[in-house]
Amino acid sequence: MSISTVTAARILKGQYSGLWEKEELVWETFPYSAIIKTYTTDSQVADSAASANAYLSGVKSNKGTLGVDVNVDLGNCSAQLDDAFHLSSLASWFQDAGRSTGFVTTTRVTHATPAALYAHVADREWEDDQEVRRDGEDPDRCDDIAEQLILSDTGKRFKVVMGGGRRNLLPKAVTDVVENKKGYRNDGKNLIDMWQRQKASSGSRAAYVWNRQDLLGLDTSNTDYLLGLFGYSHMDYSIERDNTQDPSLPEMTKAALEILQRDAGGYFLLVEGGLIDLGHHGNKGKKALTETLEMDEAVKVVLSMVNLQETLVVVTADHGHSLSINGYPSRHTDILGVAEVSGEDYLPYSTLLYGNGPGYRTHIPGHRPDPSRQDMAGVNYRQDAAVPLRSAAHSGDDVGLWATGPHAHLFTGVYEQNYIAHALAYAACVGHGRTFCGGGVRRNRGVETCRGQRRWHRQRC
Ligand SMILES: [Zn+2]
Repeated sequence: MSISTVTAARILKGQYSGLWEKEELVWETFPYSAIIKTYTTDSQVADSAASANAYLSGVKSNKGTLGVDVNVDLGNCSAQLDDAFHLSSLASWFQDAGRSTGFVTTTRVTHATPAALYAHVADREWEDDQEVRRDGEDPDRCDDIAEQLILSDTGKRFKVVMGGGRRNLLPKAVTDVVENKKGYRNDGKNLIDMWQRQKASSGSRAAYVWNRQDLLGLDTSNTDYLLGLFGYSHMDYSIERDNTQDPSLPEMTKAALEILQRDAGGYFLLVEGGLIDLGHHGNKGKKALTETLEMDEAVKVVLSMVNLQETLVVVTADHGHSLSINGYPSRHTDILGVAEVSGEDYLPYSTLLYGNGPGYRTHIPGHRPDPSRQDMAGVNYRQDAAVPLRSAAHSGDDVGLWATGPHAHLFTGVYEQNYIAHALAYAACVGHGRTFCGGGVRRNRGVETCRGQRRWHRQRC
């Protein structure tokens, strides 16, 4: 969600509301904002795994690795096994402090962003055991991400897990409940069943749901643990979603908060609008922007449910995409349309353009397709890209961060991405470092002392 994505989504929201360029996304009303530098230990341009390590664990790492530090190179199973190289995340810090945790995403629950909360793997693609084996490694040695979600110490302690990706939790012998396809797992494990048995054996009130009706009908006040898997792979784009089947990101966010907010000691929730990135990968501007507006709705739900005197809300992006808003379109011009002026080839071009990706079309003068003669309003229209790539690459430009609530003032300036995790831990009095509640290591004592304090910003606990 590059800055250009935020700007373009704001204008699209304004097209719908009539406010056009003057419109605001919900987080643009937050009192504090910052600029975040996203480069990784080995790349100027981040992927979602390395960037999630940074903002969720406070340590920059190599591209493609999850929950491990710079000592683990991409795909190095042996290095993955060394505990000394493992990172701990905000989720585990909150859990160690006795607080509730959860995450909600529109991607697979085993995808890079959520996985950085609970997994330690040398390759983000090891979402199930067959993918570990495909890379010539032994899945019995190097546990895959889905297994770590259900069986790891951090994974087991999530109160809320919602997103897509049933295929990575199901064995090959099992056919998916919606799609007529088999699970991906070679090891025979049905991790969804295992999760249900695990919670039942501990006497917890747990619910597994896979469709919107069951989620909306769930009595969240009597649910301690919730696993919601609403897609065989990623969830569908909001503009293509079957609303009778799949919940929206705002609906999942609401259910997650209803469960987590029952913890009087506080909670941590990660909400990811993961399909913004996927839309951009296809150079499909309309999908990326409408997913950004879906995130906007989710943040609106958050603000309607939390007390900003005691809850810090932070909105940011893991990395950018090479979207540019260019030309000189007049005010009140469709952001998904043409920029009004023509190029030197006397042909119009779209306001939104990409640096690279599958939207590449010939640039030979006179042969460039005229975008105004194409279905630019279509959900699958690809804006032009300068360089052909099957899937668009990310961009390395800085991203934005917007914050409101206690300690939001910690985000005013230009920061390394890994600063985010430390600032959040400081504010929430969790983790191993220095916190608002006092010096590091005495975290349990600090948390106990902090409980019940509401006026965090005025009073030391
Ligand atoms: Zn991506």
